[in-house]
Amino acid sequence: RKDGKIMNFSEHIRVIADFPKEGISYKDITTLLKEGGVYRAAVNEMVERIKPWKPDVIVGPEARGFLLGAPVAYALGIGFVPVRKPGKLPSQTISETYALEYGSDTLEVHADAIHSGERIVIVDDLLATGGTMSATANLITKIGAEVAGMGFLIELTFLKGRQKLVDYPIFSLVEYQ
Ligand code: AMP
Repeated sequence: RKDGKIMNFSEHIRVIADFPKEGISYKDITTLLKEGGVYRAAVNEMVERIKPWKPDVIVGPEARGFLLGAPVAYALGIGFVPVRKPGKLPSQTISETYALEYGSDTLEVHADAIHSGERIVIVDDLLATGGTMSATANLITKIGAEVAGMGFLIELTFLKGRQKLVDYPIFSLVEYQ
């Protein structure tokens, strides 16, 4: 925070038209991550919002969920659990397959990484359609743990991802309408 106000994170996010394909306005967070003070301020802001949810564990989907979720977990002194694409995690996994516009995708988490009754907060870089997040939340609830909230650096509000995630408290630091 600067002067008690939230920093203007959006001026550090680079927007690239038509990447990775035509019509997509890509939000590039590498420009924010390389500014040490801005990266730290963004993580600190997420930490302050997540603290009241009293999580036992932070879960982050690969790959950009790691870049924000891991420092949040470190700051809170709690564990970080990665959610990954199939075939990356070495031990026994639980998986969730979800529909994409064309085809489907699968996410995995280690079966012994999350326990029944734990409070989980999911952290990712960006909320778009909410497909990734609802699959990640399903992985957690399958195990019997509770999704205590979800935090994002960026939200593309026009894609209405929150409508898929009405059961969970959500915040984002930067919105694109
Ligand atoms: P979704 O499952 O549709 O909510 O998409 C979530 C993931 O896709 C996010 O974690 C982002 O990493 C990536 N993503 C989707 N749209 C964009 C975008 N416009 N710019 C950058 N990343 C995006």
